Amino acid sequence: MDENLMSVQDLVKTFEVNKGFLAQKKYVHAVNHVSFDIKPGETFSLVGESGCGKSTTARLLNHLIRPDSGKILFEGKDIAALKEDEMRPLRSDIQMIFQDPYGSLDPRMKIQDLIAEPLLIHTNLSAGERLKKVQELLGLVGLSPEHGERYPHEFSGGQRQRVGIARALSVNPKMIIADEPVSALDVSIQAQVLNLMQDLQEKFHLTYLFISHDLSVVEMISDRIGVMYLGTIVETAPKKEIFAHPLHPYTKALLSAVPIADPEQHNERVALKGELPSPVNPPSGCLFHTRCPYCTKRCREERPQLTEVSPGHFCRCHLMESA
Ligand code: SF4
Repeated sequence: MDENLMSVQDLVKTFEVNKGFLAQKKYVHAVNHVSFDIKPGETFSLVGESGCGKSTTARLLNHLIRPDSGKILFEGKDIAALKEDEMRPLRSDIQMIFQDPYGSLDPRMKIQDLIAEPLLIHTNLSAGERLKKVQELLGLVGLSPEHGERYPHEFSGGQRQRVGIARALSVNPKMIIADEPVSALDVSIQAQVLNLMQDLQEKFHLTYLFISHDLSVVEMISDRIGVMYLGTIVETAPKKEIFAHPLHPYTKALLSAVPIADPEQHNERVALKGELPSPVNPPSGCLFHTRCPYCTKRCREERPQLTEVSPGHFCRCHLMESA
């Protein structure tokens, strides 16, 4: 029996660009041989700059797009290979929360109807049973039954995200993929929504894949973290380990940009130079070599492997292979 709820194996996704008749075909290498596992009840976070492939990974895992190759094992079953109608019974098991719930909420529908929508699609509950369930869900996410009578435009950003969470929860999912769920919110509201997600996780033994560009947000909610760069995971470790002992120069650079609350913590500071290279034309060798202060000839020529440096701590860097 697989101990992971989800196991992502060597996932690859490219998108064709320049589709003009005479144009030479080019491809965006959005997700580049990505592998990771998510255990039941944990929060695994993917973090990285905009364009690093984390949101494409989320869409692949939720079967919104199909990979070029690789496996997505959910409870041991490869969902990447499923056709849409074969995926339908599993849809309620994997739900999504989006950055902008307003964009996914029909402005003409009342909040109670929006929350009831997944129940209508995935369950046989009667209208009365659905209304009862919606009222329970409103209470669970810190809203009142009266809020159900209102429309999305009457809600603040934080309240709308609570509605998004209630919708996701309505069909009793095993896993929630949260793509930048708090990045559009004020810092104080971010903490409230993250606390709510943590409370609900404990109550319903939920498993989260959390996507964010913001390390301070990721630090609040994660059990384990995967750092992505140009479509590839460059480092994975438990949260405490990655914050206390970051190994990859890119992780160190990301952490250097985050204010450190603990005066005892003196991580090596690494300045990130240059721009993120285009995923249409990724660098040779190590994908990070154009920005890395430790780049050598080998780095420009040979792609490093993801190596387990200490139990559960993996890093993709030649410096670690020779350590
Ligand atoms: Fe830097 Fe080389 Fe390590 Fe890549 S392999 S992160 S270029 S030292």
